[in-house]
Amino acid sequence: MNSVFLMDNVIVVGAGPTGLWLACELRLAGVEVTLIERTSGPRPNTRGVGTHARTLEVLAMRGLADVPLAKGRKVPRWHFGMLPSLADYSTLDSPYQFVVAYPQNALEELLDARAVELGATILRGTTVTGLTQNPEGVRVRLADGTELTASWVVGADGAGSTVRKAAGIAFPGTDTTYYGYVADVTLTGPPPPPAIASQVGALITAPLPSGGFRVSGFDPHDQHPEQEMTLARVSASANRAAGRDLGITDPIWISQFGNATRRAAEYRSGRVFVAGDAAHMHPPTGGVGLNVGLQDAHNLGWKLAAVATGRAPESLLDTYHDERAPVGDAVLANTRAQSALVNGFTPEMQALRAHLSGLIDRHPAVAADLAFSVSGLDVAYPSPDPAAHPLTGRRFGDAAAFPLFVDGRPVLVRYPSAPPVDGAYDSESTLEDLAYAVIRPDGYIGWATTDPDPAAALAAFKAFPADHR
Ligand SMILES: Cc1cc2nc3c(=O)[nH]c(=O)nc-3n(C[C@H](O)[C@H](O)[C@H](O)COP(=O)(O)OP(=O)(O)OC[C@H]3O[C@@H](n4cnc5c(N)ncnc54)[C@H](O)[C@@H]3O)c2cc1C
Repeated sequence: MNSVFLMDNVIVVGAGPTGLWLACELRLAGVEVTLIERTSGPRPNTRGVGTHARTLEVLAMRGLADVPLAKGRKVPRWHFGMLPSLADYSTLDSPYQFVVAYPQNALEELLDARAVELGATILRGTTVTGLTQNPEGVRVRLADGTELTASWVVGADGAGSTVRKAAGIAFPGTDTTYYGYVADVTLTGPPPPPAIASQVGALITAPLPSGGFRVSGFDPHDQHPEQEMTLARVSASANRAAGRDLGITDPIWISQFGNATRRAAEYRSGRVFVAGDAAHMHPPTGGVGLNVGLQDAHNLGWKLAAVATGRAPESLLDTYHDERAPVGDAVLANTRAQSALVNGFTPEMQALRAHLSGLIDRHPAVAADLAFSVSGLDVAYPSPDPAAHPLTGRRFGDAAAFPLFVDGRPVLVRYPSAPPVDGAYDSESTLEDLAYAVIRPDGYIGWATTDPDPAAALAAFKAFPADHR
């Protein structure tokens, strides 16, 4: 057996959106990264298409939002649980008051190029089969028998995560009870409304940025996961749900998925972490998996970089699970609620769907709140420290300051009531009674004070662990 001892500090397994984003974040802070991916080239088809507001903010903070914004389609209203009345993203407190329909594989290409540009090593066509760890490091086993060592390993290797299993991290949750279909096709008939769910089936139809349509749905009369999903089956199910012939032709991609819903019991086991689908799985009904995975990586990236480069104590790494596992739980709960609505084939569930749609129609705040709960803007990481200012952990949403985060460093903010301080970003808007705040590299308030003492603010900023100046 060959043993290869890399100088690299971190091995990331899986070059999906989560692994690619993490590699970029680690490289920004100067950490040596090897990304290991079992497939030999970019994904030919797109799984996700919906990029949400907080993800767009995060992309903007790293200077990467322009292409998805220019080439994607901006969708201000989108379905929740395939209800006919749509959630309303147009009032979100963000510069991005929409969902951007941008293909996942195009985003992955963008991130891949960025990771390479930043100096990440990407080993494609290489499969990880297992790992062992001790207090000093991790030994990663590859399919050809080679072993690599690293200080830290992150499993961003999807729902079936080899890393998660090898690290002994449990993945409790619920098994699949029904299956849905997805197909990228041409519609020769007029497209149906974006979301339909009746007693005979559920169907969502969305124009793809590259042309054609994605049709996805659930058919209670066709639950045969053991059989290949075909154009004929998709057409029969979609036409039944729509109540007419949609003229579905020219499939580019056809697949099926289950509704298994699980979350890793721990996001960290010693020197091993899990992120993205490796940490949480759920059906794609809510259209958030890519977004949540990217935010996992965004939360872990600066912390792991700070510890790997000796700028922070190891205990910082425990906050990754503490902050992201509750977000995983919220996503699972949100998706389960949507799944229940989508699969509401009984008369009782149809009545509930009609009732909820009525609430959305009559109360704009309901439509806005449903969008908020999916957008990622609702995420906050409150500090367990009772002495911390109550705003600690809140999202920093001042878009004018986003370019200051481009190199992944923290930012010191001075609010209008406080005296100037060297190197601070002078906010034009007030935030409650704050004088100064240190914003973490991931765009959340890491420290805040009402004390207008510039020396204390500068000291807090300089003490912040992730500053890799
Ligand atoms: C039909 C469908 C529609 C969706 N729509 C949306 C949407 O609109 N919005 C949204 O946010 N999300 C959506 N999702 C979910 C989204 O696609 C996933 O959540 C996302 O791909 C997760 O990213 P990841 O990087 O965590 O994992 P993955 O994308 O699964 O990437 C894992 C990578 O690890 C590699 N790998 C696995 N095992 C190994 C190994 N042992 N060694 C080396 N490499 C390995 C894999 O080849 C893969 O490249 C959708 C999913 C589906 C199926």
